[in-house]
Amino acid sequence: MSNEQVAEVEQKAQGGDLFVLSAPSGAGKSTLIRMLFERFPELARRLAFSVSHATRPPREGEVDGRHYYFVDEQTFRQMIDQGRFLEWAEVHGHFKGTSLDEVERLRAAGRDVLLEIDVQGAAQIRARVDGAISVFVLPPSYAVLERRLRGRGSDSEEQIRRRLRDAVNEIRQCVDYEYVILNDDLAAACEALAAVFHARRFHHDRMQPQIQRVLHTLPDDPA
Ligand code: ADP
Ligand code: 5GP
Repeated sequence: MSNEQVAEVEQKAQGGDLFVLSAPSGAGKSTLIRMLFERFPELARRLAFSVSHATRPPREGEVDGRHYYFVDEQTFRQMIDQGRFLEWAEVHGHFKGTSLDEVERLRAAGRDVLLEIDVQGAAQIRARVDGAISVFVLPPSYAVLERRLRGRGSDSEEQIRRRLRDAVNEIRQCVDYEYVILNDDLAAACEALAAVFHARRFHHDRMQPQIQRVLHTLPDDPA
């Protein structure tokens, strides 16, 4: 990605928010995001989920263009060479990445953007996009994580083992994130995640129109 493209994304980050959500596989981020969008429709109107490119095969029920843009490795590598990713990483043996086109399309529509990406991608975003807000979803324990991953029934035994192995290093990186949501009780975790998104609405950057209106009422020469 060229410096101008990075600058453009950074500048746009000041217009709307760029949220990064990470968790080890099976911690419940997809479930939480789904619940958040159902329970908080006003958040869903402002916030758009960025669809990543991925080289892994689709799971049952996954739809191209909705869950991921499923591409082969050659296409993905071409996109890397063309500088078309804001971030990308090899995750559990497959390539995943956020395209600049996707983020810019959502921003052009005036939406805040949510990236659901791994710890390597999150580190790239923190380094490149000023003001990005990062959130980590923490499972209650390693044993519960394994139970959830197996209970989901969507991955092969080999993939489950790999994801559990990778989870050790991923969980240790939760301290690099601004916010940490413990996903023990699902409804409570969803409330906590909504609180993070809501709080951003009251950041002084987002309150500028209201601040300016109040500032205009101040007398130049108070008695
Ligand atoms: P991720 O997207 O992080 O890989 P998923 O959202 O697919 O994880 O969740 C993994 C499994 O755990 C799913 O079967 C989901 O229903 C279950 N799950 C998620 N959160 C909870 C929770 N708080 N309590 C119990 N089960 C949960
Ligand atoms: P899954 O294969 O279960 O859908 O996702 C596995 C992991 O890939 C998760 O940690 C998820 O956050 C990560 N991931 C999904 N999309 C991207 C992406 O665009 N970039 C990066 N770096 N990771 C991603």
